[in-house]
Formats: sequence, structure tokens, C-alpha cells
Amino acid sequence: MKYATKNLSDFLELPDRDILAKTRPFYEFTGELVSQEYHHWARILTSPSERRVKILDRYTNEVREMVMMASNNYLGLTTHPAVVEAARKALEKYGAGAGSVPLLGGYLDLHRELEQKLARMKGCEDAVIFSSGYAANVGCVSALVRKGDVVINDRLNHASIIDGCFLSGGTLRTFKHNDLASLEKVLQTTEKHGCNGKLIIVDGVFSMDGDITNLPGIKALADRYHARIMIDEAHATGVIGPNGRGTPEHFNMEGQIDLVAGTLSKALAVVGGFVASSKEVVNYLRFYARSHMFSTALPPAAAGALMAGIDVIQNEPQLRQRLWTNIEYMRTNLQRMGFNLGNSETAIIPIIVGADDLLKKVSREIHRAGIFVNPVYYPAVPKKSSRLRLSLMATHTQEDLDDTLAVLERVGKKYGLI
Ligand code: PMP
Repeated sequence: MKYATKNLSDFLELPDRDILAKTRPFYEFTGELVSQEYHHWARILTSPSERRVKILDRYTNEVREMVMMASNNYLGLTTHPAVVEAARKALEKYGAGAGSVPLLGGYLDLHRELEQKLARMKGCEDAVIFSSGYAANVGCVSALVRKGDVVINDRLNHASIIDGCFLSGGTLRTFKHNDLASLEKVLQTTEKHGCNGKLIIVDGVFSMDGDITNLPGIKALADRYHARIMIDEAHATGVIGPNGRGTPEHFNMEGQIDLVAGTLSKALAVVGGFVASSKEVVNYLRFYARSHMFSTALPPAAAGALMAGIDVIQNEPQLRQRLWTNIEYMRTNLQRMGFNLGNSETAIIPIIVGADDLLKKVSREIHRAGIFVNPVYYPAVPKKSSRLRLSLMATHTQEDLDDTLAVLERVGKKYGLI
């Protein structure tokens, strides 16, 4: 096998006079992965994304059912009747699309109501919607951070935040994951060298590890060193906090975080992103966050569904309770079997495998056994920490969980993971 030791990062820099030349070896690489049954990206679903899905298996060319353990649809709202009905009503009333960017004619009353609802959920004065969580992070950071400013990231922050930092004119610094001493060191160095503004950015729940940021510690340091804080609530909204309002609620710190960003595509199960903050900040972002200003507003059906989804999160706490029952059950059993789950505390449960080669074989076997789990390799996670990434849902049944555990135990034993 020509590309046996290669990974995705090896095809980034392949200088050639033809800028398309790099795509040829990469095409061969992905073909080689398919021939070995190691290609587990972009599996095609022929059903809604629910607790069990039907996929068109690229290895057998047949449609088969799998237990879905790789969805961010934490509360099962993609197919919740109230959410689907609200989408249908909005579609009938407003048609398929918003027709324009929000500033120039694409701003519906539905969008405004959704912003206000999100702001209330996040305990902020106002909110602005983006076409995705990715766009929210890129737009927010690049609008607020300018030349002479410093932006300080947890090392495991999501790619969209890092991309926003690259687009901004500011200086990018990182601190060790969830390590306050490391953050303080960066803040001290920054003070010494001087700068204009400082923005600390963290994920509320980290997307590949499932642990929760130390928000009280971050806030204390931000206050001491006169920095602002932005938090990405992608995997926290609807999951943590007594009412599912996310990380600030979890730590009883609502209203104390300068910028609360998030996605509308995970627990809220549709598409879009938002930033909630003060009236002044939100007003500024409407005009300077380029991914908002230059991008068409969300489709009406999405906005309608999202309004209903926020109501479901508030009015059906039993969904979140069920999710947490499932999380505890899976974590306890996987730990009892002897898997390394890192520091996971939430619906994202990584199973650390380590070497890429081993993960490829393990993933192939799990896929064959009918469990849909994502393998995650470097550069998405640090080197030698390749992993399986499970995401739990409120709608998973006992049978779904037990079927998954049985496969993981069998495969884990076979490959020496436990
Ligand atoms: N932030 C985090 C932490 C995420 O995991 C994701 C989704 N992968 C995003 C932002 C981007 O959200 P979206 O999928 O809505 O663009």
C-alpha cells in the first residue's frame, strides 16, 4: 500500500507549479482507504438522522441499518413533531428562502424573534444569527479582534475559532488545554510585551474530548488581566446547565460572559449560529461580522423550527434527563470495561485508541458490526491520541446502548484496548 503511513495533514503542502497537482495523490490516498475499508467519512444516510439510521454502505452497496452514535442531535429534535411542524408552518407562510442578506432585505420577523429568544436563553441583552456556527465564530472573532489586539485560545478550541483568529489582524496565542497556570503565563507575557485589547476564547464543552471549560477560573484571570471572554457553546447548549442553557448556567455565571457564541445545529438540531452579547456588541457585529453581513439569512423553515426547538428545550426537561441517564450508563459501562475515556464529562465520549493504524482496524470492525461511530485522527486531535468519538442522544434506547456496548467490548478485547 503506497499511502499506508500517510494521514490528512500530509496532503496540505505539496508544492507544485500546478495548484491542482496535490489533489491527485490525495485522490489515490482516499481510494486506497476505500479498498481497505478504512474510509469512514461522509457515509451516505438514506433516512433521517435519528437514533438508528439507514446508510448506503460504500463497501457492500446495500442500504443497511446502523445504531447512530455520531450525531450532535443530542435531544433528538431533528424529528421532534413540534419542531417539524413549526418548520412546515414557516415554510408555508414565508416560502423556501429569505431572499437576501439580513441587512439588505432578508430579515424576517421570525429571525428577529429567534434572536430575542436566543438572547433570553443565554441571559444576554441581544443576539445576532449567522448561517452556521462556523460563520458565527469566524465572523465574531474577525470583527472584534484587530491589529494590536491579542486573542488567547485554549489549545483545543474549535477550528472555526482558529480560522476567525487567522482572519483577524490580531496576534494569536494559545494556552494548554483547560490549564489556568498556562493561561496566566500567556496573560503575563502579553502584559509585558503590551497590546491593545485582549480576548480569551474557550469552548464550553470541547468537541473532541467532551470535557467542560473551567469558566470560573478563566473569568477570575480575565478580570485580573483586563481581558474579555468569548465562549463557544456548540456542545453545551441544550446539554449542560440545570435548564440546558449551557456553560454559564452550569457554573451559575449567566450574564457574566462578554460573548456567548454557539451553533443552532447540534441540540437545536437544525442549522445556523449565533452570538449573544450586549446591545452594543450585537449591533456592531451586524455591520462588521462579514460572515453575517455578506451572507443570506437562514431559510424561514429553519428559523421556525429553531423557535420550536428552544421551547422544547425549556418545556421538556425529561429529554435532557434521559440524555444524562444515557451518558452515565455508557460512561460507567465503558469505564468498567477498561476503556480510556479521557476527561469526558458530557454527551461526547472519546475512546482513546492512540495509534492511527489500530484505530483504522477498530473502526472497520465496528462499522461492519452496524455501529456508526466516528474515528478521529490527527490533525483533528493531537498526535498519538487518535480516538473513536461517541455522541449520545436522549432518544437512544436501552437496546441501542447495549448493542453498542457489546460491539465495543468485543472489538476492544480483540485489539487490546481493554
Ligand atoms: N464550534 C464547535 C465547538 C463545533 O464542534 C462546531 C461543529 N463542528 C462548530 C463550532 C461549527 O458549528 P456548525 O456546524 O453550525 O457550523
